[in-house]
Amino acid sequence: MKKKRFGSEGRCRLCKKNIEGDKISGHLEKCRGKLLKKDDNRPVNVMQISACGKHTPEFWLQLAAWDGATLSDIDKFLRHVWLECCGHLSSFNINGVIYESQADDDGAGFFPFDAKPLSMSSVTLNEVLKPGTVLQHEYDFGTTTELELEVLDVFQASKPQAPVILLAHNIEPKIKCVSCGKIASLICSGCCYDFQCFCEKCAPKHECGEDMMLPLVNSPRTGMCGYDGPGL
Ligand SMILES: [Zn+2]
Ligand SMILES: [Zn+2]
Ligand SMILES: [Zn+2]
Ligand SMILES: [Zn+2]
Repeated sequence: MKKKRFGSEGRCRLCKKNIEGDKISGHLEKCRGKLLKKDDNRPVNVMQISACGKHTPEFWLQLAAWDGATLSDIDKFLRHVWLECCGHLSSFNINGVIYESQADDDGAGFFPFDAKPLSMSSVTLNEVLKPGTVLQHEYDFGTTTELELEVLDVFQASKPQAPVILLAHNIEPKIKCVSCGKIASLICSGCCYDFQCFCEKCAPKHECGEDMMLPLVNSPRTGMCGYDGPGL
C-alpha cells in the first residue's frame, strides 16, 4: 500500500484517535480492518483514496469508496464535506481524460478543452482507477478549488452503507493572523488565492474591507466564492 504522508495532524474516524499526518496511512491500513464484519462471506473491493488541497495540502482527508461506485459519488462526497457553495460545475482529470459533473446551472457549455468531456456518473471506479492512479479534481471553473486525489490501495470490506465513507481527516489547523500573528478566525474572499487570514480585531483594518471576510473553515475551499462551511 502507498503510504501517503501529510504534514498536519489528523483524526481517524474509525477509532476516534488523533494521529500524526505522516502516520495516518499506516494507521488506516490496520484500522480499516474494522470495516470487514466477522462472518461476512461476501466482502466487496473498496478503494482507499487520499485527497488534499493542491495548493493547501494542510487540508486533507482519506476516504473509502466501494469500487462499484461512480466518480460522481466521490464528487458528491467532496462537495458535501468540503466544497459546495452554489452548485458550480466540477470535473475530474484522470491521465488527461476529463469527466464532468452534471450541468446544473447557466455555466453549462463552457469548457476549456477541445475534447468533449465524459460524464462522471457514467463510469464506475473499477473501470478507471487502480492503486497509484492520481486524480485532479476542480470545483467551480471561475474561482476554482483544485484538489489532488490518489488511489492508495484496494482492500476487502463489508459493503459500506454509503458508496463513499470518510476514514480520516486533518484537524482544523491553527492559522495565524497575517497582521498580528494571533489565531485567525476570518479569511478575505478578495484575496482568496493569497490565503490572507485575520483575527477579528485586525479584519476591519484590511484594505479589501470587512464585507469581504468569510469565516475561516476547515476546508480547501475556505475564503473562495461564498464558502462558509461546514468544512470538516
Ligand atoms: Zn483508527
Ligand atoms: Zn459559489
Ligand atoms: Zn490580528
Ligand atoms: Zn483582501
